[in-house]
Amino acid sequence: IEESEKFRIEYWALEEAKLARLPKPKPLATRVALVTGAASGIGKAIATRLAAEGACVVVADLDAGKAAAAAAELGNSDVAVGVACDVSDADAVARALREAALAFGGVDLVVNNAGLSISKPLLETTEQDWDLQHDVMAKGSFLVSREAARLMIAQGMGGDIVYIASKNAVFAGPNNIAYSAVKADQAHQVRLLAAELGGHGIRVNGINPDGVVRGSGIFAGGWGAQRAKVYGVEEEDLGRFYAQRTILGREVLPEHVANAVFALTAGDLSHTTGLHVPVDGGVAAAFLR
Ligand code: NAD
Repeated sequence: IEESEKFRIEYWALEEAKLARLPKPKPLATRVALVTGAASGIGKAIATRLAAEGACVVVADLDAGKAAAAAAELGNSDVAVGVACDVSDADAVARALREAALAFGGVDLVVNNAGLSISKPLLETTEQDWDLQHDVMAKGSFLVSREAARLMIAQGMGGDIVYIASKNAVFAGPNNIAYSAVKADQAHQVRLLAAELGGHGIRVNGINPDGVVRGSGIFAGGWGAQRAKVYGVEEEDLGRFYAQRTILGREVLPEHVANAVFALTAGDLSHTTGLHVPVDGGVAAAFLR
């Protein structure tokens, strides 16, 4: 047997051994998920889907009462709990992960979803706007991922971290510098952390939704009126406007984003990390108008 052939055999044997040691993704029914900002909108739809798949779910949101109420809709405290957590506060994030781990014996799926949207043109964007936007979404998701990674590495069983970014992570949304910039930051966190945590069996992926008008608190809270003004349409027509410019011609709903979280974490995409999945009816491929 030639030296080079011996090397090849040894190399693959080592690779096999390494793979065998890596934690394998587990079915959702055996998992514990923490979803930030899950008291409303997209986060609530994600928490609902994960609970329906049998995962134990921790609803983490700013207001303890709202988090508890959303968790109660998912089931009793054996399967869902609410925790108060401001993701921009490192101590609160550490407490939330600890509470989650105590409630269900660990956490192996974390969704960085909490957010808000300050939609203003550059000249109207204040330093406070910029800081708030970045505190909640850039620093917030960094803190949550760091705490989740600490826990997952200690557990030694791998896990998933999913970021709900936005198509604005890739395309500049007009008149929303703070929001678009922070979404691009989150997209880069996905790539960086995928590279850093892969060796622990922790996969990090992102989802880029287009405008989710119906069922989103962000749109109800002023963002919808502002976007309608930017695009020159009536606010009640905004969902239809977004839908019409997509290849599929359909509105994106919170459930579509939840479907993507399921697809990324249920096991079939176990060799996928560092990816951003567009949930946008095809807008990332082509704008129809
Ligand atoms: P939403 O307002 O319905 O939900 C956001 C949740 O985050 C709320 O429950 C809110 O209380 C919570 N939150 C805000 N600040 C927080 C903090 N500091 N700590 C913990 N929780 C906090 O909005 P949504 O549309 O469901 O948005 C959810 C995520 O999806 C956001 O990250 C948003 O940027 C992203 N997204 C939304 C759209 C859309 O069109 N709606 C599109 C792309 C991406």
